[in-house]
Amino acid sequence: MSDIVLGDVEVTRVEEMHGPVGMTPDVFFPGSPKEEWAEHQSLLVPDFLDADTDICAIAVQTWVLRSEGKTILIDTGVGNHKERPYAPFWGHLELDFLGNLERAGVRPDDVDIVINTHLHVDHVGWNTRLEGQYWVPTFRNATYLMPRADFEYWNPANNPRIAGGVNQNVFEDSIAPVHAAGQVMLWESSYLIDSDLYLQSAPGHTPGSSVLMLDSGTDRAVFAGDLLHSPFQIMQPEHNSCFCEDADAARITRRDILGRAADNNALILPAHFAGHGGLEIERAAGSFRITRWAPLDRL
Ligand SMILES: [Zn+2]
Repeated sequence: MSDIVLGDVEVTRVEEMHGPVGMTPDVFFPGSPKEEWAEHQSLLVPDFLDADTDICAIAVQTWVLRSEGKTILIDTGVGNHKERPYAPFWGHLELDFLGNLERAGVRPDDVDIVINTHLHVDHVGWNTRLEGQYWVPTFRNATYLMPRADFEYWNPANNPRIAGGVNQNVFEDSIAPVHAAGQVMLWESSYLIDSDLYLQSAPGHTPGSSVLMLDSGTDRAVFAGDLLHSPFQIMQPEHNSCFCEDADAARITRRDILGRAADNNALILPAHFAGHGGLEIERAAGSFRITRWAPLDRL
């Protein structure tokens, strides 16, 4: 099963890729002690950690929402044919993501709204596709919602540090062409999508990082973007990934969003969880505990 119905909203998981990410826990989550990983190993192996190689695993996926007659995508993966000198494992891909999307019943022209939870390389890739030698918007009829803080931060004209990092070329090939086509709406703080869905700023991982809150009927969910990269961070929320731009803010935001999810029985659906893709949690001795996995087939 790759669908869940939450209130009036239908949620479908569409995979771009999943598997080992090439990093051991101490590299992916700097400073996280081996003993803590050992303590939680039974929860993490095999979907999130390979026991033999000690390499972490993730998925790159898009959450498709159908709400109030609209088709909404949350994050657009890595994309095909992109030049990624500092993330070579994500360069020049030729994956059938659009085929996966079509098999989920979504053609590119059907998409009404694209949400980029933040503007990292692996969340904006399918914003565009290569047509001849030009990058053009993949979703011609969509409004792309982007956090203004990330739009400004990841523009190399504002931040020369982008060159030489994993986001090199990303603004030019996956963001600027959509903006030039007049399809970008920049938002700050919060943004109401419809009566069941709203975006909320959740800074730390990046300055503009955001989450999408779903509140429909008796169901609640939070699409948590990159606030979490492994269920390890549910039990040990103090540990950031190596890609968090502001370590202190990322920790505060993670605890805040996890606390709200625990108190509201919200299903947490991060961007990168392989396995069942999401989970429910409860508070436990200053931290959190997993109570239930999402009812989705394992990747
Ligand atoms: Zn990511």
